[in-house]
Amino acid sequence: MVPEQIIIFKEKILNMISSKTSFIALIGNPVSHSLSPIMQNAALQYLGLDLIYIAIPCKDEDLELVLNSLKKINCKGLNITIPHKEKVFNLCSEISPIANKLKAINTLKLNSNQEWSGTNTDVEGFIYPLKALNLTRKEGIVLGSGGAARSVIQGLINLNFSKVTIISRNEKSLNGLMKNFTNQSQVKGLLNSDDQINNLIEETDLIVNTTPVGMQKESNSENNVLPYGENFWKSLNSKTIVYDLIYNPAPTPLLKYCDKKGCRTIDGTQMLIAQGLKSLSFWTNGLEVPFEIMANALKKYL
Ligand code: NAP
Repeated sequence: MVPEQIIIFKEKILNMISSKTSFIALIGNPVSHSLSPIMQNAALQYLGLDLIYIAIPCKDEDLELVLNSLKKINCKGLNITIPHKEKVFNLCSEISPIANKLKAINTLKLNSNQEWSGTNTDVEGFIYPLKALNLTRKEGIVLGSGGAARSVIQGLINLNFSKVTIISRNEKSLNGLMKNFTNQSQVKGLLNSDDQINNLIEETDLIVNTTPVGMQKESNSENNVLPYGENFWKSLNSKTIVYDLIYNPAPTPLLKYCDKKGCRTIDGTQMLIAQGLKSLSFWTNGLEVPFEIMANALKKYL
């Protein structure tokens, strides 16, 4: 964005604020890197609502106080990010079935009793770029066993995948995650040292990276590595789709590597936008904003 554009953008936001303006906030720690304020303010402006979106850093020990206080000061909704997605469960009076199943909440709104209702929009966000690809009865691999992996696995189940293999370096978190999917026989877990991995990589239809490997870092030391090292990827087939949840940098080193091997690749930008659109719809009881409104706002920052 050139300086004149920044001034116009800031003026537009300032013109939106009046003594009646209410707000939506992102709560996490850290939040200063987040692109949600950029895309959500563009969408709120498009809708012409008297609402703004801000990011509020919040430490673990302050979470309860902050959420209880926000109920009292005209805050209409929240996004919740690392490290609070599980901790907000105790602070909600209603929780959607999907958030309950995933044990993670990323969106809250104030209900008619002035209490927080929680849900999770990451599954719908994840599925968004896959919907048009007709992946029913396909096989998928998920790398990593953290918070985002839960949404990805649920997304692949919703898309009717016949087999979903989670590959993790961490036995404890892998076992914990498998407990969420005990009734789903198509979901299996493996450690990244397992002998079956070469064959699985060769045969799979989709690989999703949910590890942070390849994310933009301040130091260059780890910027060019692939999840689990280059050897892990040696049997990759050009028919496999590779989806990296990371959106900065886009493309990641993994997606550049897979693109060179002839694979179709998807970065995390569409998921970021699609989950944001779903959150906005939840806060506004169903209002919709075109995908391009958020995408165009983000283009200047990615
Ligand atoms: P998380 O809960 O911290 O989970 C990260 C997982 O990656 C854990 O299983 C962790 O294993 C593993 N991991 C970390 N470093 C690794 C390494 N060097 N090699 C192999 N595995 C490693 O994080 P998250 O919330 O799931 O987020 C994961 C990534 O997804 C982040 O990059 C985040 O930005 C991205 N994301 C994107 C979107 C989007 O909208 N596009 C949404 C959500 C998340 P250990 O437990 O052993 O550390």
